[in-house]
Amino acid sequence: MEKTGFLIDMDGVIYRGNQLISGADVFVQTLLKHNLPFVFLTNNSQRSRLDVTTKLRRMGIDVEEKHVFTCAMSTARFLAKQKPNGTAYVIGGSGLLNALHKNGIAVVDSQPDFVVVGEGRTITLEMLEAAVQMILDGAKLIATNLDPNCPTSDGGTRPGCGATVSYLETATGVSAFSLGKPSPLMMRAARKELGLSTSQTVMIGDTMSTDILGGVEMGYRTILVLSGGTKEEDIKRFAYAPDCVVESLHALCHNGDIRLSLPAPDPTDDSVNLNEWRMMHAT
Ligand SMILES: [Mg+2]
Repeated sequence: MEKTGFLIDMDGVIYRGNQLISGADVFVQTLLKHNLPFVFLTNNSQRSRLDVTTKLRRMGIDVEEKHVFTCAMSTARFLAKQKPNGTAYVIGGSGLLNALHKNGIAVVDSQPDFVVVGEGRTITLEMLEAAVQMILDGAKLIATNLDPNCPTSDGGTRPGCGATVSYLETATGVSAFSLGKPSPLMMRAARKELGLSTSQTVMIGDTMSTDILGGVEMGYRTILVLSGGTKEEDIKRFAYAPDCVVESLHALCHNGDIRLSLPAPDPTDDSVNLNEWRMMHAT
């Protein structure tokens, strides 16, 4: 198999709530056995890399922190680039606070450069009121993702980060900038984390509007799994389609190997090789 690496969504692909999806562990073991590069890509900003790794290990999936890339990391790295040593007022959980601190963004209660929104269990009306005033005073509104809701382990639904962001957008008239899937900033950062080119990258997920859209827009090949929130008949409602649809990750495993029925990669999707470009344009 040509060098291929995988960006893999977790909820609905690896597990549902705290329940492992049958065969997902076999798929990951096969990736590890063949040294195929992969990273788990999640729009949940609440957990740190360590938290996610621990959750996966408890399900029998033995991976390292380097195998996890969260929208909190994508957000924190972007903000650090935009404004080194910047400040943020945060509505969100410890994974987000952690990522911001790691990237030199200080968390403050007044006059922040950014209001950063993730998911969390501690949001209060006072926090939302404070955030509204900060945004009206000029702080930039940053979303770790725009997912409207999230599935819960008991089969229900809870409001997601996107719902909180909408509240702030409506109150201020300011649109948020999102760094979660399908943002090209997150999709590209995850690919670079693996040292892959565009044509070598395959995105696997269960949600059309984040995983598959993000992959399609980046020129990655995409695999939709039906083990999460999307049914096969839903696909036709979208203007874009995945390259391949399977029931679950287990369907990609054959006798200890990974088999993909994907179109051939398009090497012209890759970025220009700078050295070649310089040689071609040398005067
Ligand atoms: Mg998912």
